[in-house]
Amino acid sequence: METERSAFLDYSATTPVDQRVIDAMMPHWTEGWGNPNSLYRQGRDAFRVLEAARESFAAGIGAANPTEVIFTGCGTESDDSAVLGIAHAGMAKGKGRHVVVSAIEHKGILEPAKLLSKQGFDVTYLKPREDGLVYPEDLRAVVSDETVLVSIMHVNNEIGTIAPIAELAAVTHEVGGYFHTDAVQSIGKVPFDAAAVGIDAASFSAHKIYGPKGVGALYLKRGTPFEPLLIGGGQESKKRSGTQNVAGIVGFAKALELMLEDLPAETVRLTALRDRVVAGITGSMPNTMVNGTMDAASHTSNIANIVIKGVEGESMLLQLDNRGIAVSTGSACSSGSLEPSHVLLAIGCPAELAHGSLRISLGRFTTAEEVEYLIEVLPPIVERLRAMSPVYAKMFGDES
Ligand code: PLP
Repeated sequence: METERSAFLDYSATTPVDQRVIDAMMPHWTEGWGNPNSLYRQGRDAFRVLEAARESFAAGIGAANPTEVIFTGCGTESDDSAVLGIAHAGMAKGKGRHVVVSAIEHKGILEPAKLLSKQGFDVTYLKPREDGLVYPEDLRAVVSDETVLVSIMHVNNEIGTIAPIAELAAVTHEVGGYFHTDAVQSIGKVPFDAAAVGIDAASFSAHKIYGPKGVGALYLKRGTPFEPLLIGGGQESKKRSGTQNVAGIVGFAKALELMLEDLPAETVRLTALRDRVVAGITGSMPNTMVNGTMDAASHTSNIANIVIKGVEGESMLLQLDNRGIAVSTGSACSSGSLEPSHVLLAIGCPAELAHGSLRISLGRFTTAEEVEYLIEVLPPIVERLRAMSPVYAKMFGDES
C-alpha cells in the first residue's frame, strides 16, 4: 500500500512539542503541581523546580545572572512588556521620548510602538536595506541623546535574515539608550549570548523551539529600567505578576537545552536542505527570486523566502495544502489578512510580487523526502496558476 506523502514546512509558525520535553514537563502536572509562591512543602518543591529551570534557561541564553530571566505567557507578551516597559520606565528616569524599531519587526513590537506614538513618543521605523539587513550606520543616523529604546529583531521570521545585534546595541549605547531584540526566531537556531553581545533586553517563545505554546521569557539585564505590564501579586521579582506555569517553564528550559545540544549539527543539516529548496524551486521555474541575503553569516539555516512571480501566494498555499504540504505566505501570525507582507514591502519588494511569496521553514523533523516532495509538486501547480493568470501574462507573456 502506498503511504500518502506530506510535508510540514512551516516551522517558523510553530513546532511540535518534542517527546523529551513532554517527558520533562509531565511530573510537574501530575505530582509536583504546587504553587511556587506557597510557603509549605509543595510550594517550596515547585519553587526549587522553577528556579532550576530559570538557571538552566539563563545559562542557555548567556545571561550573567538567573534573576535577569522573567518568564511570561508568550513571545508577544515579552515584546509588549519590553517595548512599553523600557520606554516608560526609561523616560521616567530622565531619558528622552524617542524610540526606534525596525520596519520588519513582528507585530508584537510594531503594535506597542504604535501605542507609544499615541502616548506622545516619537517613533522611528528604521528600514533595512534591500538585502533585509538593518545596518549599524543607518541606526547611527537616526539615534540621538533623546533615544530611550531601540528594538531590532535578531532573526526575521519571514526572510530569515540575522541582524548584527552586538553592533546595533553598541550604537544604541553610544547615545545612552537601551537595546532590545526579539530573539523568538533565533535562540537555539543561531548562536545567542546575551551578555557577550551586550544587549539590555530580549524576547523568547517556547513554541518555536519544540516547547509548549503559551510560555515565553524576557531577558532584562540588571539595571535596565522596566515598568511591568502585568501587575498584581508581584511574582517574577515584581516584573510579571501571575502564578508561573511551572511545567511549561520546565519544558521551555528543556527545549532550549536540546536545541543547543543539536545546534552545530542541525545548522549544517538544515542549511543543506534549505539550499536544496532554493535551488530546486528557482532552478525549475523561471521568474522566481529569493528575498533577503543568503549570505551564510547573515541568514538563518532554516528559512527560505521565495517570490514566484505572477502567482498569488494564497492560491499556491491552498493547492499545496491539498497535496499535504504546509508552507506559509508571509508571516503566519498575520495570516487571515491578504495584505502584502510588511517585511517584503520594507525591503523594496513590490506589492504584486510580495503577494506571490512563499516562506518555507524547516526544522528538527524535516526530511530530504519532504523537501523533494515540495520540489516535485510545486512547479506543475505554479505552471497551472500562471497559465490562468492575466497578471503573469501581462508581466512575462513573451518569456514563458
Ligand atoms: N516574535 C517573532 C519574531 C515571532 O515569529 C513570533 C511568532 O510568530 C512572536 C514574536 C510571537 O510569539 P508568540 O506566538 O509566543 O506570542
